[in-house]
Amino acid sequence: MKQPSYVTRSRMPQQAQFLLKIEEILQRAWLTNNGQCVQDLEQELKNYLGVSHLLACNNGTTALMLAIQCAGLAGKKIAVTPYSYVATLSALLWLNCTPVFVDIEPDSLCLSPEQLSRKFTEHPDIAGVIPVHIYGLACDVERLEAICLERGAVLIYDAAQAFGSCYKNKSLLDYGDYSICSFHATKVFHTAEGGCVISHTDAAHEALSLARAFGHTGDVHSRLGINGKMSELHAALGLVLLHTTEIEIEKRRHLHKRYDAALAGVECVNFLYISSDTSCNYAYYPLLLPDEAVLLSAMSLLQQQAIYPRRYFYPALNTLPYLEKEWKTPCPVAEDVSRRVLCLPLYGDMDDTIMDCVVTSLKSL
Ligand SMILES: *Cc1c(COP(=O)(O)O)cnc(C)c1O
Repeated sequence: MKQPSYVTRSRMPQQAQFLLKIEEILQRAWLTNNGQCVQDLEQELKNYLGVSHLLACNNGTTALMLAIQCAGLAGKKIAVTPYSYVATLSALLWLNCTPVFVDIEPDSLCLSPEQLSRKFTEHPDIAGVIPVHIYGLACDVERLEAICLERGAVLIYDAAQAFGSCYKNKSLLDYGDYSICSFHATKVFHTAEGGCVISHTDAAHEALSLARAFGHTGDVHSRLGINGKMSELHAALGLVLLHTTEIEIEKRRHLHKRYDAALAGVECVNFLYISSDTSCNYAYYPLLLPDEAVLLSAMSLLQQQAIYPRRYFYPALNTLPYLEKEWKTPCPVAEDVSRRVLCLPLYGDMDDTIMDCVVTSLKSL
């Protein structure tokens, strides 16, 4: 039986370096609550990303919830993209916010500024906007910022997939009033479980920092909080993996090119459009197929070879069965795209034979 190949494979740290960090942690006997490794990781991430305020969290979903809560958006109306991983939506639902789905642009697959303007006319009480830099590609950050500024809405980017991506020579994580990132094991940079929230003022950072640790310092309880802290063990993994992230992105860029070349001439080739202002982290290799039937036969063909691509992202979030009926407004572009996108296996150390097998199967379709 062939070894199964999945859409990604978690990047492993260099063992000796990791074990050294773990030994230090055991010596200190300090496992969480803003320990040395978390502080070091926050500093290194700020340097790497070129951001002023960053807090490490226990995952990306909590990071997003912290941003929504600290921005004063709990219980309010939030415009959100229907084309993302479900966590984008669940974070705002846990805070009793009402989602207003805004369809995506067919080329960038990110929240459409034009559709957003329309939704503001229909719902002038939208208090926040959550777009996603899908596949690590930039949203139309200029237009989104202008609309939010004009309407007085808070702009929170779900940049969970955008670690290492830049727009106009600035990290994508540096845009918006807040940006969050995920450091889940499947992401380009990870800490097994983890994430961060980025803000731009001391006041916002202080509020997030308090809220991350239950909302109190000693016996002084000053705001609503939650447990959003990262542990020392997770931070140690991040400290070791951060140094090889550039190499990982470079390897993926190379594999992207190899996929592009191998699939050239096939009708359903990679449709990712990377503008000249964007440098992408090559986190995913999405393929837009002609229709869902072709997608399903591609999947079963690959499964026969023990290759398991993923339908990132399906279904469109505005169609989830547990939503209130009146929230489920149509988003034709997102609904169409989500039925036809398949993400192929991609990770830095992927064997060429896996890609060759994928390409041969797809060509035989
Ligand atoms: C991975 C991901 C998340 C969830 O992050 P966790 O760290 O797993 O909580 C949220 N949004 C998007 C777009 C993601 O890709």
